[in-house]
Amino acid sequence: MARPRIGIGGISIESSTFSPHISGDEAFTVRQGDVLMAYYPFLTPGSELREAAEWLPLTQGRSLPGGAVARETYDRMKQQILDGIAENAPFDGFFFDIHGAMSVVGMVDAEADLAQAVRGALGPDVLISTAMDLHGNVSRELLDEVDLITAYRMAPHEDAWNTKERAVFNLLGQLRSSVGDDPDARRPYKAWLQVPVLLPGEKTSTRIEPAASIYAEVPRVEAQDGVIDAAIWVGYAWADEPRCQAAVVVTGYDREVIAAEARRLGRLYWDARADFGFVADALPLGASIDAALAAVDERPYLISDSGDNPTAGGAGDVSWTLGELLARPELTDGSVSVIHATIFDAEAVARAVAAGVGGHVDLQVGGRIDPGPSGPVALSGTVFSITHGDSDAGDQVVIKAGGVHAIITERRKPFHHLSDFTMLGLNPQATDIVVVKIGYLEPELYELAVGWKLGLTPGGVDQDLLRLGHHRLAPGVFPFDTDGREPSLTAIVTRRGESAVESH
Ligand SMILES: [Zn+2]
Repeated sequence: MARPRIGIGGISIESSTFSPHISGDEAFTVRQGDVLMAYYPFLTPGSELREAAEWLPLTQGRSLPGGAVARETYDRMKQQILDGIAENAPFDGFFFDIHGAMSVVGMVDAEADLAQAVRGALGPDVLISTAMDLHGNVSRELLDEVDLITAYRMAPHEDAWNTKERAVFNLLGQLRSSVGDDPDARRPYKAWLQVPVLLPGEKTSTRIEPAASIYAEVPRVEAQDGVIDAAIWVGYAWADEPRCQAAVVVTGYDREVIAAEARRLGRLYWDARADFGFVADALPLGASIDAALAAVDERPYLISDSGDNPTAGGAGDVSWTLGELLARPELTDGSVSVIHATIFDAEAVARAVAAGVGGHVDLQVGGRIDPGPSGPVALSGTVFSITHGDSDAGDQVVIKAGGVHAIITERRKPFHHLSDFTMLGLNPQATDIVVVKIGYLEPELYELAVGWKLGLTPGGVDQDLLRLGHHRLAPGVFPFDTDGREPSLTAIVTRRGESAVESH
């Protein structure tokens, strides 16, 4: 048997429609051809999956979370994918590598638009297998274009590669199952339902209940006879689109089993809706600082500056939190040491670089893209360090104002690793309070933190969802619309080429 020809393409970004930031061409790393192939560790030469197919890596654009994608940027990447399909046809399968929470200026449900275009170019006979982030959204329109669709089962996403590998493995399994057989039979059934609940990732970490127990059911469902895969999506809370809510898909051949299990997972999620709480004590910033100052035996004490978390879609330049730190005399008099990471502001970095290490600067930092409640904040201090050429941040400077060490970067960069700090001459282990634009703590910071508060700060990914002002969500979505209606949680069972059946 000839090896199946499998294309690879997609676009991955999580974009907040509440952030004034726009994600343009500069936001994306666009991989094509051999570079794209080399991106996937499970497709290295000699690996089983690599040898099982003839791979046609086309175009995949990937960005840090940010604001909505510029229309021209989206259209250009989409056209590159479609051109690649036209140039490399025919295909047997397609690995559709997306996030699921992309917003594009002027569009709703950008992933459905992309899936429809890819399906149109591939034709009806090609199997599409989709790997997503569990913070993506699954509309009926997206579901209908693809054959297999799965998502991460862990938040933080320690299983990201594993999920993409599973999507490819399942695709190969389905392509093999068609040998000498009815080609329609290789298209599995999908049992899909949306759960009208929309919660922030910081309340749905799979490290804690109730998400831990709900997600523990997913591999148990997958292990049943007649089931190929199961997935639960939390959805994306910082876009104002009707598709934004939780979803479940169970894929397989046994229509009764997949429908019943999809309904069961959806019911578990719905019934737990009021039990999801923040992964840490969530407090307004002032109370978080008070708690950190009081906990003198818990050093370092971490505070998440969560409303402007760039890895969720915040602009990354809201400087309100820095202003609040600088307004505390016990922090600026040097008796308590604080690191704030980070604000991106190329102009402020350039001025600090010009002043040189040890020089004094009077800066207005941040607030250029997302002014937040404060606009730019006055920062006067000494240039503590200058670091050039980080691949994400570009130039980075640390400004010391009393006990406060404020990190300013040329471009947006998340601070997830200890090395992000130590490369700047900082020692977070020996610092009293470390404030980071992040939500739940990534593993190295989680290890670092002796004490921790989730600061409820303003920005494009404000964790206090109800103050953001969504108005385009579907009716009945908890906690935005709590009129007491019970959703039907009916599963739609469908496969491409057949009409859908409702399963109650
Ligand atoms: Zn995610």
